[in-house]
Amino acid sequence: MTTEESKAALVARLGQLERAARPLNPGTGRRRTLRNAVSASAERFLRRIETLKAFEDDAGSGQGLLAEPIGERGLELERVIDLFEREVVTPGLNPASGGHLAYVPGGGIYHAALGDYLAAISNKYAGIFFTGPGPVRMENQLLRWVADLVGYPASAAGNIASGGSIANLTAIATARDAHGLKGGDLATAVVYLTSQAHHCIEKALRIAGLGEVQVRQVPIDEHFRMRPDALTSLIEADRAAGLRPWLVIASAGTTDTGAVDPLDRIGAVAHAAGCWFHVDAAYGGFFLLTEHGRSMLRGIETSDSVVLDPHKTLFLPYGCGVVLVRDAAPMLATHHYFGNYMQDAAAARDEVSPADVSPELTKHFRAVRMWLPLKLLGLAPFRAGLEEKLLLARYFRREVAELGFEVGPEPDLSIVTYRWVPPGADLERCNRINQRIVEAVRRDGRVFLSSTMIDGRFTLRMVALSFRTHRKTIDLALRVLRAAAAEATAA
Ligand SMILES: *Cc1c(COP(=O)(O)O)cnc(C)c1O
Repeated sequence: MTTEESKAALVARLGQLERAARPLNPGTGRRRTLRNAVSASAERFLRRIETLKAFEDDAGSGQGLLAEPIGERGLELERVIDLFEREVVTPGLNPASGGHLAYVPGGGIYHAALGDYLAAISNKYAGIFFTGPGPVRMENQLLRWVADLVGYPASAAGNIASGGSIANLTAIATARDAHGLKGGDLATAVVYLTSQAHHCIEKALRIAGLGEVQVRQVPIDEHFRMRPDALTSLIEADRAAGLRPWLVIASAGTTDTGAVDPLDRIGAVAHAAGCWFHVDAAYGGFFLLTEHGRSMLRGIETSDSVVLDPHKTLFLPYGCGVVLVRDAAPMLATHHYFGNYMQDAAAARDEVSPADVSPELTKHFRAVRMWLPLKLLGLAPFRAGLEEKLLLARYFRREVAELGFEVGPEPDLSIVTYRWVPPGADLERCNRINQRIVEAVRRDGRVFLSSTMIDGRFTLRMVALSFRTHRKTIDLALRVLRAAAAEATAA
C-alpha cells in the first residue's frame, strides 16, 4: 500500500468509527427523549413516595438484572427504565421513604439530585485548583462553612469525601503522620475509644497500616457516653507501663443509641495527655445547626479533626462525608503528592486542592449537590428539619413508653432505644420476642426499624433522621409496633 492509500484507508476507518460512536453524544431531540423518560420515572417514584413501603420484602432481590447481560446492542429506553424501577428501586430498603427509621437513615433531597445532574453534565474537574478553580473554590467555601459551624480556626482544611468511613480514614492517616508514628512505634501507640465507636474506625486503623496499635475501650456511663475519669485512668496506666497514648476518638452521636460523648471534658483529657483528639460526628455533627445540638456537642471545637456526614444529617443523597482537620499542615503532609504530568498545575495555588488533602485525585464533583440545596433553600429549612427530628425522637419515646415498651435513656439526639418486656419473661424469651417484633415490622414494611444488642439485650431502635419523617410517620410506627408486639408475644 502506498502512503496515500494507507492514509485514505485510515480516514475511511475513522469516519466509520465516528459514526458508530455517535450515540455517545446524543443531539437535542434524543436528549429530550432521554431526559423526559428519566424525569417521568423520578416523578412516578416521588408522587408515590408517601405510600411506597419503607421495606419491600416481596419483590425479589434484583435477579432480573442478570437476565439482561451487558451486550453489544443497547435496549429500548422504556425497557431499561422498567428494569431499573422493578429490579433496583423496588426491592429491599427504600431509603427515600420517611418510614425509614432504621440504622442511620439517609437523605436524598431533590435539589441535591439536580446538583448531581449539573455536576455530571459539565463534568468539571474538582480535584485540582488549576483545572477546576470554580469547583475547588466551591468545595472549600462549603468546608469553611462547616468549619465555622464546628468552630475551627482559619488554619483548618478539609475535604468532601464519599462518606464517613473515608472521611474517618483521612483523619486517622493525618493523625498518624502528625505524631510521626512509624512501623516501630505501632506496638506501643495507644488509641482510646468506646465500645460504641463505629466499626469504620477500626477498619480505618487497619487500612492505615495501624492494625497493630493498642486499642483501649474506655468504659461508658449509663447513657453510653465515654467516661472522662476512666479515660484519664487508662492513659495514666498506659504511660506508667511505658506505652505512648496517641489518639482519642470521641463520638458525637453513636450509631447504636445516638449518645454524644462529653466532648469538652474528653478533649481536655486528650490534650493534657498530648493525644490527637478526633471526633466522629458522622451522624450527629450537623445537629450543630440546632440550639440543642450546639449544647450537646460543646467542645467539638477543641478537636484536632472531625467528621460530619452531609448524606445523613444534611439530608443529601448518599456519597458525601466531610472531614476537617484543625490545622491544614499535617493534612497536606499526609496527602500531598506531585507528578510530572501535573507540572502545569503547580503554579496556581490560591486554594488548597482537594487532591492535596485526600486519597483521591480525580473525584466526583460532589460539592454541587451540597451547594445547590444550600444556595436555593438557605439554612432555615435545614435547621427546622433537624429540630423536628430531635423532637420526633422525644415524642416517640414518650408514646412508645405509653404503649408499655421499656425505653432507654432520654435521647441525646434523634435515636431512641426501647424493647418489649412482657411480665415474667426471662432475658432469652424477651430477646426472642423483640427479634420477632423487628421481623414483623419488616414484613409489614410501612415503616422500617432496626435492632441492636445492648449488654446482651436485644434492643429495638428508632432513628428519626429522614427529611420525609414527620409526626404522622411516627404515629404509624407506633401503630405497627403495637400490633407487632401483640403478635410476637402471642406467638
Ligand atoms: C454512618 C457512620 C459512619 C460511617 O459513615 P459512612 O458514611 O457510612 O461511611 C461512621 N461513624 C458514625 C458515627 C456513623 O454514624
